[in-house]
Amino acid sequence: MTEKRVYNFSAGPSTLPVPVLEKVAAQMLNYKDSGMSVMEMSHRSSSYLEIFNETKALLKKVLNIPDNYKILFIQGGATQQFSTIPLNLMKNGKADYIVTGAFSKKSAQEAKKFGDIHIAYNGADNGFKHIPTQEELDLREDASYVHLCSNNTIFGTEWKYVPDTKGVPVVADMSSNILSKPINVADYGMIYAGAQKNMGIAGLGVVIVREDLIKDHKENIPVLMEYNTIADNDSMYNTPPTFSIYVLGLMLEWIDSLGGLEVMQKRNEEKAKLLYDYLDQSDFYHVHSDKDNRSFMNVTFTCPNKDLDAKFVKESIAAGMSNLKGHRSVGGIRASIYNAMPLDGVQTLLDFMKKFEEENK
Ligand SMILES: *Cc1c(COP(=O)(O)O)cnc(C)c1O
Repeated sequence: MTEKRVYNFSAGPSTLPVPVLEKVAAQMLNYKDSGMSVMEMSHRSSSYLEIFNETKALLKKVLNIPDNYKILFIQGGATQQFSTIPLNLMKNGKADYIVTGAFSKKSAQEAKKFGDIHIAYNGADNGFKHIPTQEELDLREDASYVHLCSNNTIFGTEWKYVPDTKGVPVVADMSSNILSKPINVADYGMIYAGAQKNMGIAGLGVVIVREDLIKDHKENIPVLMEYNTIADNDSMYNTPPTFSIYVLGLMLEWIDSLGGLEVMQKRNEEKAKLLYDYLDQSDFYHVHSDKDNRSFMNVTFTCPNKDLDAKFVKESIAAGMSNLKGHRSVGGIRASIYNAMPLDGVQTLLDFMKKFEEENK
């Protein structure tokens, strides 16, 4: 079965490690002698609570999450958090947003419904090729929080530092690079991610939030958007996305068994370097992002013209690769090389890129 699999460079939902898929398959009909699939279990059953608690504990271990942070599992993906964050965290009606791509732009637009939003940096004018330096940020000292997107999935840029916000909590959308490298969770007030890029499958949003920031909530917000209610009920105020949480647990087991986030970082750097080193010496391909801000997760580049971009995508499919077409707002090619993309997949892409350049330059 596995020999028919393609190298899937999709930005999300995206490729999963084969050992994870095999475990899901093996446990599908009868999970650990429970006589049923995880999909069929009550979320309050002892079998399921064990999965739930182990997944939370493993996330805490792998990301090294301090004790004063809550881990919340929420349906609605990353986008729901665009609304939930201002509703819960914008205590004084003011927040700063750093706009470095399509998702941070959307999150800022959504927050504008709820208060005074200041754009601390806007990368739209230069085609979102750049991540601002500390000096380029125009931050307010009285903002409730500063929001940023740590990896811009569509444009292929990634933050390489955490900005100094003079004590204002940083809220980070890490949907496309969470678990790709070690981070210092304490640098952030809140971290959130949709699971379907680098930590599992769709249907689950993960929130990691400092508990003092969610002690209370405003009146009249929808109950499923109250972080403290979700925290007080350990993400079970209603039915959580049970199967997606189970797959997250398997992903974390896989990462842990390979040596954790230091090992992920080494693997990811090695894969990204293979592609960027080749792209840099080529006059045929052009990398979209600025050199200092390149994403190790989403590698975006173009061929000399749009016809060649289309030909590249078409021929790459015949060569056993899928989903290399860039997002419509950038065009060109995007290779998403999350944790689960093996080195062999990147090597296959690299060999194809070389051959394609030879044949078409
Ligand atoms: C994919 C993505 C989102 C949207 O995630 P959903 O789970 O579909 O809501 C938000 N932010 C970033 C950085 C993403 O890559």
